[in-house]
Amino acid sequence: MIEITIDEEACKGCPECTSVCPVDVFRLDEPGKPPKTIAAEKCFGCFSCVDVCRADAIEIKGFPVSTSYFLELEDERVIRDLLEKLI
Ligand code: SF4
Ligand code: SF4
Repeated sequence: MIEITIDEEACKGCPECTSVCPVDVFRLDEPGKPPKTIAAEKCFGCFSCVDVCRADAIEIKGFPVSTSYFLELEDERVIRDLLEKLI
C-alpha cells in the first residue's frame, strides 16, 4: 500500500506539490499550511512532488516498482492492439 507522508514541520506550504501532481493527490485548504493528502491511492509514483518540494518534506513509501504503472499501460496497449486485429 502506498503511504505518502508530509513532514508538517518541514513543509513551507508553498504549495508546489499540489500544482505538480497530475492526479490531485494533495489538496491545499489553507495557504501557507501543509496540504492534505486526500487521494494517496491515485498515486502512480512519478515522484514529481518529491522532486519539486524544496523543503524535502514528502516521503512516499510502499510503491511496488516505480515503473510498473507504465509497464501495465504498455501491456494494456499491446493487448488492445491485438484484440483489435483479431476482432
Ligand atoms: S511542495 Fe513541499 S513545502 Fe511545498 S507544500 Fe508541498 S510538501 Fe510543503
Ligand atoms: S508521486 Fe506523482 S502521482 Fe504520486 S503524489 Fe507525487 S506527484 Fe502525485
